[in-house]
Amino acid sequence: MSSSVALRLPSIDGLLRHPACAPLAERYGRDSLLTGLRQLLDELRPGVLSGQLAAVEIGPEVLAGRVGERLAQQQRSQVRRVFNLTGTVLHTNLGRALLPEEAIEAVQMAARYPLNLEFDLASGKRGDRDDLIEGLIRELTGAEAVTVVNNNAAAVLLTLNSLGARKEGIISRGELIEIGGAFRIPDIMARAGVRLHEVGTTNRTHARDYEAAISPRSGLIMRVHASNYSIEGFTARVPTAELAGLAHAHGLPLLEDLGSGSLLDLTRWGLPAEPTVRQALLDGADIVTFSGDKLLGGPQAGLIVGRKELIAKIKKNPLKRALRVDKLTLAALEAVLGLYRDPDRLAERLPSLRLLTRPQAEIHAQAVRLQPLLADVLGEVWQVSAVEALGMIGSGSQPVARLPSAALCCRPQVSKRWRGRYLLNLEAALRGLPIPVLGRIGDDALWLDLRQLDDEPAWLAQLAQLQVDR
Ligand SMILES: *Cc1c(COP(=O)(O)O)cnc(C)c1O
Repeated sequence: MSSSVALRLPSIDGLLRHPACAPLAERYGRDSLLTGLRQLLDELRPGVLSGQLAAVEIGPEVLAGRVGERLAQQQRSQVRRVFNLTGTVLHTNLGRALLPEEAIEAVQMAARYPLNLEFDLASGKRGDRDDLIEGLIRELTGAEAVTVVNNNAAAVLLTLNSLGARKEGIISRGELIEIGGAFRIPDIMARAGVRLHEVGTTNRTHARDYEAAISPRSGLIMRVHASNYSIEGFTARVPTAELAGLAHAHGLPLLEDLGSGSLLDLTRWGLPAEPTVRQALLDGADIVTFSGDKLLGGPQAGLIVGRKELIAKIKKNPLKRALRVDKLTLAALEAVLGLYRDPDRLAERLPSLRLLTRPQAEIHAQAVRLQPLLADVLGEVWQVSAVEALGMIGSGSQPVARLPSAALCCRPQVSKRWRGRYLLNLEAALRGLPIPVLGRIGDDALWLDLRQLDDEPAWLAQLAQLQVDR
């Protein structure tokens, strides 16, 4: 039997005056509250008309509570801090390199005050934003000149377009790579207006292959560091110095996209060897491009360094204006580059290098310390162990190299058919924490690689809130 008295939603005015709503107006503003209430009432109206909702479900306190939850949700920032326990240090989807304090301070200064972004304080005349970091980069790489853009993809696009438009770009078939889905060398060349002239084969390209391709239509020779894959076995690659000799004999520039590129030899910290920018220039590359937020450990940026007259040409391209970096990036970049002047202290001061070089024994000790705490929260369904694990540098640097690390390995003690569901539920619960915790699933377990667990107190503080669905 349906009741003969039809239910009615409270009026907006009545709700706005209700004491349960007053604090919400105070906190989120009257307009947001009004919009929230209207939306909620619109959603509830059909349920009221069809008689599916009970009176208690549309009382003012209940409605105020629901609107309050929504407003709180809306107010929460979409850009959120997370714990990167994936084992990949320079994780593109998680923002790559973390900035050192010096760079954070520089960014704050640049955000807060006017600055000499394009103003030469010595002459009082208009300046060029690249000048702010040119001296440092020249000192650190030996380059004649420098320009900086939004990222390395932009650096490659701009360089190709400036030096090779309407001409042919000669490149080995083994270097026609794809990075992160959307960046493919053949596509970028096409967009830059450079006609792709591929030479050699996937595994072997010789000097004679390049030589046979050179013609009056040629505009440049390009070399791309195969950053995110490796070709092994029966391979051949022309050394940069030899390729530069060939290019210059025919009046062509050699462009080298180093991808990560490193300013210093990383083997001094026990990391895998990565070509340095200085060496590429010494070998004769005319232009070298690399990222600011990969191994360099700075903000997202694309650095273009090399011969003065070529850099001048690149800077004159109208695309440069479209791809230029902002003041916050320049401020951070200058501060990070400054740290490279003192290589002895770099591993202490630059977070990416400090994390990449954290000793396995130290990470393992941390895992042993945290193991009982996590085991306690997860309960007996989960076997939690402190184990050795292998991480990665990330961002395409050294795809084959592994970083010896340690992890908390969580295995559900349930039959094989339920394991996948348990793992996904644990993964979701960790993601649902106030500071989401991101690990990785593999080998019937969820792994939390602790190499990057710097802020242990914050991680521990939220552990008690972990609730895993069964
Ligand atoms: C990463 C990479 C790029 C793209 O650099 P972004 O800074 O991510 O735009 C280009 N080329 C190579 C070889 C790379 O490794």
